[in-house]
Amino acid sequence: MKRIVILGTGGTIAGQAASARQHVQYRAASIAVADLAAGTQMPSGLDIETEQVAQVDSKDMSVDIWRALATRAAHHLARPEVAGIVVTHGTDTMEETAWFLHRVLAPARPVVLTAAMRPATALAADGPQNLLDAVSVAALPEARGVLACVAGVVHAGRDLRKVHPYRMDAFDSGDAGPLGFVEDGRLRRLREWPDGEPFGLDAMLRADWPRVDIVMNTVGADGVLVDALCALGVRGIVAACTGNGTLSRSLEEALLRAQEAGVAVLRATRIGRGALVEAEGATSALPSAGALTPVQARVELMLRLLQQDMTD
Ligand code: ASP
Repeated sequence: MKRIVILGTGGTIAGQAASARQHVQYRAASIAVADLAAGTQMPSGLDIETEQVAQVDSKDMSVDIWRALATRAAHHLARPEVAGIVVTHGTDTMEETAWFLHRVLAPARPVVLTAAMRPATALAADGPQNLLDAVSVAALPEARGVLACVAGVVHAGRDLRKVHPYRMDAFDSGDAGPLGFVEDGRLRRLREWPDGEPFGLDAMLRADWPRVDIVMNTVGADGVLVDALCALGVRGIVAACTGNGTLSRSLEEALLRAQEAGVAVLRATRIGRGALVEAEGATSALPSAGALTPVQARVELMLRLLQQDMTD
């Protein structure tokens, strides 16, 4: 028997509403992961184990929960009998958790995030099918890396982004495209499994995570927020730039001043797809986050600063 461990963190997949018609204003994170697993008809030949790591609406996901999640995932991945791990999560911040786990675990076996857009009490709840699909992917002998499985689509965790606030197919993989589709429990894979790019666990176990905030370029954006963040002692700032990494003159000047003063700055685009394209051979004064979304770039910058603190 293969063993799959399901780590519960909450979210709408564990949500309950007053009526089956209700898709908003329900209570997320109210059903135990053990009950979600027990209520889903799992594929035969699998031993399912559950562990409740947290029980939160993912809008309230925290560094403490991330630490617990990564630590428990690493613990279970070290058990030879565990074929793969599934993480139930809220959809709102799943792309941040996916990037975090991708960077700290880079597992040789699969860690599959799953979620739901309808509470468990909805007439056509999507959670049970998503959980079943995620377990099927986690049990595949060839699967590896941090993945996400929602609405029948499998994404590499590093490419994941939420693209719709209500529809059940609320995620995509940006320009990278999906990794594959789950069809009747079988995976139709379109491209290679994601390679790991691990930071390792050590840095993230540190108690004092650096503060990193996001500032967006908009019509009329100035440097006031950046100056205020610097005065607060922020360690890093991600600029959610317009277009291909552009910033208003005064916001750019403020960010350059911040960088000069020792604050780490990364530029990402506020557009949901694509990567920043730099002129050939040019290095820009404010470093690029490439294809990362601003929220992923913030996680990346926090991890880089943690690692830097360790080596200092
Ligand atoms: N607010 C919920 C959460 O992120 C939304 C969801 O799970 O769909 O936990």
